[in-house]
Amino acid sequence: MKAAVVQAFGEPLVIEERPDPEPGPGQVRIRVEASGLCHTDIHAAHGDWPVKPNPPFVPGHEGVGLIEALGTGVTHLALGQRVAVPWLGSACGRCEHCLSGWETLCEEQVNTGYGCDGAYAEKMLARADFAQPVPDGISPLDAAPLTCAGVTTYKALKVAQVGPAQVVAISGVGGLGHLAVQYAKIAGATVAAIDVTDEKLELASELGADLVIDARTHDPAEVLKRFGGAHAAIALAVDEAAFSAVYGGLRRGGKLVMVALPAHGTIQVPIFDTVLNGTSVIGSIVGTRQDLTEVLELHAAGRTRVVRESRPLVSVNESIDEVLRGHVKARIVFDFNEGR
Ligand code: NAD
Ligand code: ZN
Ligand code: ZN
Repeated sequence: MKAAVVQAFGEPLVIEERPDPEPGPGQVRIRVEASGLCHTDIHAAHGDWPVKPNPPFVPGHEGVGLIEALGTGVTHLALGQRVAVPWLGSACGRCEHCLSGWETLCEEQVNTGYGCDGAYAEKMLARADFAQPVPDGISPLDAAPLTCAGVTTYKALKVAQVGPAQVVAISGVGGLGHLAVQYAKIAGATVAAIDVTDEKLELASELGADLVIDARTHDPAEVLKRFGGAHAAIALAVDEAAFSAVYGGLRRGGKLVMVALPAHGTIQVPIFDTVLNGTSVIGSIVGTRQDLTEVLELHAAGRTRVVRESRPLVSVNESIDEVLRGHVKARIVFDFNEGR
């Protein structure tokens, strides 16, 4: 089987021929049909973050495919069943986080395409308990971006407790942001979408954003304040300055939810304003298995639209360049059925 491998940080990925992996107890082997390119995979390949993966490794945590081998002890999944493999590859199931509905904070978690090989491959292994069944009627190419971009933004809006009659700023309308706009609309909010390219701003309007802010020409904080300020701002742009820009656009009691992970990112939070205005700054990391189930159900019910371009895996390096140049409409998905 073919896999795209990070041999060294910052180097182009290498397509390698590898033997099919054998599932151990509690694991399944999946024939991958579709695999999304999340910006996190680029951070992983560049070694951007303080906690780094160990090359060589196979990135990819928006993997969708059909189960073709069951490890011992796996009884709740069947051969041929379609599953999605997210970033949360496994968690301990015993700690306070796992037991309180916060398995995404488990200190023993293993992350797909980071702590173990991921979905940029024709075949992959997954823990059966964390491989989410994909409902009938959802194409694998749609399911892939929902598996990270979808679940992450759906969860971020839950964390922000967004409701109708609220103004929500979505900063960055990329893979994550184009779904965030839709979940914010489903929650009933008035949505202000912020980006730095014409295509993304047009896409945000198409997807229902009530207001678009071009951060190249306008200060998002100023524009948001004109509308009374945002009740919540979801920071999805891979740009440190974009975090401060939306923090400044919060109304009293507003919440900044940090999701994007620019390398070495920090923001300065003014103590006086934060105290007097009662603002919150909250981090949000992916979502639980239950969140992913809800995201897939919403899509199966026709409530969301996935905007994607499919490519063969061999185009992985060009695809990464395009994401970095901001040339991708929303999400690139590697299509393994192409040419099969
Ligand atoms: P992406 O590249 O598809 O989207 C980023 C968007 O930000 C682009 O549309 C870009 O035009 C826009 N942008 C750039 N500069 C901007 C600015 N100054 N103001 C407004 N918009 C700007 O990336 P993605 O796949 O959507 O991922 C976004 C980030 O989220 C990455 O850092 C990724 O690692 C992170 N992420 C976090 C989690 C989590 O659980 N917290 C999960 C998935 C991804
Ligand atoms: Zn745990
Ligand atoms: Zn991701």
